[in-house]
Amino acid sequence: MCALPSLKLSDRAVDFIDEDYLHGLLAGKKPDASRIREIIAKSLAKQALSLEETASLVLTEDPELVQEIFAAARQLKENVYGNRIVLFAPLYIGNDCINDCTYCAFKRSNFQAVRRTLAPEEIRQQVVALEDKGHKRLILVFGEHPKYDADFIAETVRNVYSVHSGHGEIRRVNINAAPLDIEGYKKVKEAGIGTYQIFMETYHHDTYSMMHPGDTRKGNYLYRLDGLSRAFEAGCDDVGLGVLFGLYDWRFEVLGMVRHALYLQERYNVGPHTLSFPRLRPAQGVEFDERYFVNDEEFKRVIAILRLAVPYTGLILTARENPELRRELMSFGVSQIDAGSRIEIGGYTEAGDAQVMEREQFCLGDIRSLDDVMRELMADGYVPSFCTSCYRSGRTGEHFMEFSIPGFIKRYCTPNALLTLQEYLVDYASKETRAVGEKLIAAEIANMEEGEMKSRTLQQLQDIKEREVRDI
Ligand code: SAM
Ligand code: SF4
Repeated sequence: MCALPSLKLSDRAVDFIDEDYLHGLLAGKKPDASRIREIIAKSLAKQALSLEETASLVLTEDPELVQEIFAAARQLKENVYGNRIVLFAPLYIGNDCINDCTYCAFKRSNFQAVRRTLAPEEIRQQVVALEDKGHKRLILVFGEHPKYDADFIAETVRNVYSVHSGHGEIRRVNINAAPLDIEGYKKVKEAGIGTYQIFMETYHHDTYSMMHPGDTRKGNYLYRLDGLSRAFEAGCDDVGLGVLFGLYDWRFEVLGMVRHALYLQERYNVGPHTLSFPRLRPAQGVEFDERYFVNDEEFKRVIAILRLAVPYTGLILTARENPELRRELMSFGVSQIDAGSRIEIGGYTEAGDAQVMEREQFCLGDIRSLDDVMRELMADGYVPSFCTSCYRSGRTGEHFMEFSIPGFIKRYCTPNALLTLQEYLVDYASKETRAVGEKLIAAEIANMEEGEMKSRTLQQLQDIKEREVRDI
């Protein structure tokens, strides 16, 4: 067993999850319809909701009002994000782990798991395979182990960026790994990471302790809760929160996540870039207590309420969910999805079509190819975007840019999404997908106001098709 490095909390670490207060909100009186409509109107005016207002939405059970919450989430998503959907793929780097999270197949007590860490050359092979499919954005995923320290993560990020297979390049690398200390975040920031994601898993203290038993690194609630505050203190202002739904009451977890988002916003002046809301999936060596499982109807409420509570925060829906549900949930305010995902270590070159339980963290619900997902998205009227322009031109806080500058989305994001989509259609798409995509681009262009921006976009689309101009 490796020695655990000592846990250094940020000087100002505080436990801002006041459990009694959150439970008190949930035990409160159900608000009446007019109050719910006021709250919805506030959110549609693109103002973030307070914790108390979010609790009112969570307490809403009346089917008619729940439908109004869904409709508002759809409308807000349309108003704020338009029909763009950002696409990415996960790349699992290593599954060694010193922790024993009860729900995860990578836990140290799962002796059936095949443990492996990709060597630098193997990482390059995975990246080539992903570039060959057309991916531009990755999230690198790591177990928690002293060998996956900040230097290792930073080196891996540099390795990924350096792969230019001749058939594309990765333009943005996000991270999902254990919390680091301030020095560690500085190192990974220097390597050019995008978002650093840490899922709290559950905000409920006792459940947290039960799910992370023993003297494990992850067992320290406050160290994990403080993880993203340390990131901010190290200068990483692009962070992602998450809850693993199914461990405790979803209502409490929604409030916990919103409380965390509001806390970061108040303390560091920037909210999280993204929220993730994975639901528990079957995993090797794992038995679940089903008491808190979140059904599909409840899951829709989770997503719609989060959309309304934090209008300017991206929502990530992963391939844990099955294709049918993903399709439906897309309209509730999701702004990013993964596609063509494989989560076995080495899965992009070695897994074939089947999922290999001994080598993955949990079973995926959607293992369709990127091309299939793209085609369905476009047939449903979404514009899949691979744009990483803000981030790459050094404008950090990409997310902030989009919303803080009036007209920014219309002037930059929409045309850039179309251009990166055109790149995809020319370079990677199947014939069928290209046909659907060309139709969508033509419809989007027809909707653009006449003027300089439209003619420039048309020219750039032409350049991509005829002169092989790339790299928006
Ligand atoms: N090991 C690091 C950690 O725990 O922070 C990095 C992330 S872990 C590889 C990725 C995430 O997968 C976890 O944070 C957890 O939320 C999720 N996860 C673990 N087991 C899962 C399961 N059975 N079903 C769905 N998601 C799961
Ligand atoms: Fe390890 Fe992360 Fe899985 Fe926990 S969730 S066992 S820390 S890989």
